[in-house]
Amino acid sequence: MKKLTVIAAALALGSTLLAPAAVAQQKFVTIGTGGVTGVYYAAGGAICRLMNKERAKHGIRCSVESTGGSVYNVNTIKAGELDFGVAQSDVQYNAVKGQAQFKDGGAHADLRAVFSVYPEALTVLARKEAGIKKFEDFKGKRFNVGNPGSGTRDTVNILLGALNMKTSDFSLTSELKPDEHGAALCDNKIDGFAYVVGSPAANIQDPTTTCGAKLVPVTGPAVDKLVKDYPYFAVATIPGGMYPGNPDAVKTFGVMASFVTSAKVPDAVVYAMVAAVFDNFEEFKKLHPAFANLDPKDMISSGMSAPLHPGAVKYYKEKGWM
Ligand code: GLU
Repeated sequence: MKKLTVIAAALALGSTLLAPAAVAQQKFVTIGTGGVTGVYYAAGGAICRLMNKERAKHGIRCSVESTGGSVYNVNTIKAGELDFGVAQSDVQYNAVKGQAQFKDGGAHADLRAVFSVYPEALTVLARKEAGIKKFEDFKGKRFNVGNPGSGTRDTVNILLGALNMKTSDFSLTSELKPDEHGAALCDNKIDGFAYVVGSPAANIQDPTTTCGAKLVPVTGPAVDKLVKDYPYFAVATIPGGMYPGNPDAVKTFGVMASFVTSAKVPDAVVYAMVAAVFDNFEEFKKLHPAFANLDPKDMISSGMSAPLHPGAVKYYKEKGWM
C-alpha cells in the first residue's frame, strides 16, 4: 500500500516536472451536436476522431456533446460555451439575420460558417395503423413536433404556418427528443413525428423495423411555395428502401446540415479542424453512410449564410478551392 502511494506520488511529481510543452498547452474544443441517435452526433464524432488523430501536430483535443440540436448549438456558441456546432442551414440563416426564433436575441454577428455537410430531409413518420397519407392527415392525431432547441421544431413551425395549421389542430402535441420519438411511436403514445435529419438515421430505422412505421410525403402547393420563397429550402427525396418496410421513394423538402463556429475561435483551431476533415476526406466519407456522396466543392459553397471563418478560408485557398 505504502509502496503504491510512493509510486503514485513520484508519477504525479514526474508528470508535473516533465510535462512537454505541447501537453501543457493542450487546447480543448467541443462540438455541439444533437441526440445520440441522430446524425449530428455521428458527424461530430467523425470530425473529432480525425482531429484527435493529429493531436500531436496541433495540440487540440476535440470532444462532442449531445445537445437539443441546431438552435441550442447556435445559442450556446453565441454564449461562448461551445466552440463548434452543427446547425440546419435555415437555423444558420435566421441566426445571422436575427429573425424568427432569433428575433429577441438579435442577429448573431459572430456566427461563422465552416462548411456544410449533407442534406437533411424533413422526415415524417407515422404509425402504420394511423392511416396517414399526407401531413394534413395528422389533424386530430397525436404528433411530436420536436424538442425546444431543435431545428426540427422550427422547420415544423414554418410548415404548419404554410399549411394554415396550428399545433392546436393536433389532439396532442408532444415535444419529445429524437432519442425518444421512435419508442413513443411504437408504444402508441403518438401517431407521428417529424425529424429534420440526414439519411439513414438510427432513430428512423428503429421504428420502421420495430413496428413497421411509414414515411409520410410532405408535398403540395404550400411546400412548393416554401421552396420558392426561402433560399435554404429545397425539395428532397428519401430514396426507396432507405428504411425497412418503406420500398418507395418519398418526396419531402429539406435543408443542409452545416458546421458553424464563432469569430472568437482562433484561426489555427478552425484551420486544424478543416484540415483534419479534408486531408482525410476518403476516410471521413466512410464514417457514416450520410457522408458517402460528399463533394468538397459543394461543402464550401452551399447552405451557408454566415461569413466563412478565416481559418477555413485559409485552408480552402491553399487547396485552390477559392
Ligand atoms: N436537424 C436536427 C435539429 O437540429 C438534428 C438532426 C441530427 O441530430 O442529426 O434539430
